[in-house]
Order: sequence, then C-alpha cells, then structure tokens
Amino acid sequence: MSFDLHTHSTVSDGTEAPAQVVSEAARAGLTGLALTDHDSHAGWDEARVAAAEHGLVFLPGMEVTSKTAWASVHMLSYLHDPLEPGMVEINAEARGGRVERAKRICERLAEDFPITWELVLEHVSEGASIGRPHLADALVAAGVVENRGEAFERFLHKNSRYYVDQQNPHPAEVVERIRAAGGVPVIAHAMAGGRGNTLSLAELEELVEAGMLGVEVYHRDNTAQGQKLLLDLAARHGLIVTGSSDYHGAVGKPNKLGENTTSVDQLVRILEAGSGNTASGPLPH
Ligand code: AMP
Ligand code: ZN
Ligand code: FE
Ligand code: FE
Repeated sequence: MSFDLHTHSTVSDGTEAPAQVVSEAARAGLTGLALTDHDSHAGWDEARVAAAEHGLVFLPGMEVTSKTAWASVHMLSYLHDPLEPGMVEINAEARGGRVERAKRICERLAEDFPITWELVLEHVSEGASIGRPHLADALVAAGVVENRGEAFERFLHKNSRYYVDQQNPHPAEVVERIRAAGGVPVIAHAMAGGRGNTLSLAELEELVEAGMLGVEVYHRDNTAQGQKLLLDLAARHGLIVTGSSDYHGAVGKPNKLGENTTSVDQLVRILEAGSGNTASGPLPH
C-alpha cells in the first residue's frame, strides 16, 4: 500500500483537473492520495468522487502559504474543517494576496516581455489560487521560454528583478489555526535548500511546540542531509513522517506521482490525529 499525500490540480497551479490527478494516481498504482492545492479546498469534492470511482483512499488536504522574516514555509494540512473561521480567514487573505502579487510580477515582466494580465488569466482556472507557475505559463504562451522550469530559472526565482514578495502569516500561527480546525499540520519540503532559506532546527522545534504534528521527509527537494535532520527531529518528538511527490501535472513539473510515498502506518497516524474532516475509500486501520 502506498500513499502520495502532496498533489496539486488546476484549483491552484497544477495543470490537471482534480479528477484527472486522481485517475493518474490510480494509473500510477497508488492506494490513495491527498489533494493539497495551495490555499484552496475547491478541488476536494471532485477529487473525492473520482477517488471513489477508482477505489482509492482520498484525504482532503491543503498547502498553506506562510513565512517567517527569512524563509517561505509551506505547511500541509490534512483533514481540517475548511469552514472553520480561522482557516477561512487565512485562505481568503492568501488567495487575495496572491492575485495582487501576481499582478505586480506581471507588471514588471510586461516591461520587458509581450505579456499582459489578460494573457496570464487565460492560464488560471476560475477561482483558482494564482501563483508564479501561471506567470510562467504566460511566458511560455508568449514564446519567451519553453516551459515552466525555464521561466523559474530565468525570471521567476526569488532573486530575480521581476520577483515580488508576499505577506503571509507566520508558520506557528498557521499551525495553530490548522489544529483549531481539527487538521494535521505537516511541514512541506522543509529542507529544500534550492528553494531559498530554510528554517533552523530551533525554528522547527518552535513549530513542534506550536502543535505541528509531522514532517514531509521524502520530497525530491529536501537535501539528503536535511532528510537526516528531519528524521532525527521526528524521532525526538514522535512526529509523523511523510513522503510525497508534490505532483503538479505531467507538464507542470517533472515530479511524478508516487515518486515518494507515505507508509500505511504513518497514514493511519494522520487519520487518527485529524478530526475536522473525513478521509474516504478503503481506509486502513
Ligand atoms: P508561488 O506560489 O507563486 O510562490 O509559486 C511557487 C510554486 O511554483 C510552487 O508550487 C512550486 O511548485 C512552483 N515551482 C517552483 N519552481 C518551479 C519550477 N522550476 N518549475 C515549475 N514549477 C515550479
Ligand atoms: Zn505549486
Ligand atoms: Fe510547496
Ligand atoms: Fe506543493
């Protein structure tokens, strides 16, 4: 049994609809998956129905954007109540902030390249959480770059002159809100050195203190040394350990569904810890 607990659909910046992500998960031979779109739960219903059709376990999830003074932090949440006011508030703020930020990045890019806000919006599904990958899609459409990867390498990375920062809540606050909504907070790709600054061990321990319950250890962006640090942290604090692909669709990113997976015993721990929502399908005990 294998579970991929970090995937994205067109509800945020993935390139496949929720139902298609699920059918690809079935094709990849997975036992189950979580849909974890950025700052949105809008894909859950569609994914849950599709998972039932394919006989897969489905976990409702989300990747919540947060940051400290130095580092951008992505907090995965599983099984939270999406209507809990604290979650509704940070999700609405995050999605609104994403639109403003994307417009500003677009303005900067438009000074040098033939792209417009209208062109960007052509690549965003109705109501989706917009992000840099959509700006990348506009650059591809304008013939500036070949794919999203090239757009990030050349124009959309953090040190680019086109980059614009976004205000987001501190990860400790996000952890507290997820717990208050009955969710299970698991920090995503915490040791992804290539993405920018990462949290120190002391900062990770502060998040454990705040109620964080797990760490995504097996993710292609975590360094080998970082994985050891996370496993050690998990052992000392009894944290849940996950592994996932961070799939963004076949053309969205090279990450393949099931390239990293979470074991059934760790999945069961998530199911036991989450109380704001339900998983569905042939659940293990
Ligand atoms: P944003 O949410 O606007 O900060 O954009 C971050 C998103 O861009 C993350 O979900 C990443 O998966 C995606 N991303 C980062 N680097 C790349 C890349 N090289 N190719 C495709 N997508 C990327
Ligand atoms: Zn993404
Ligand atoms: Fe992430
Ligand atoms: Fe992600």
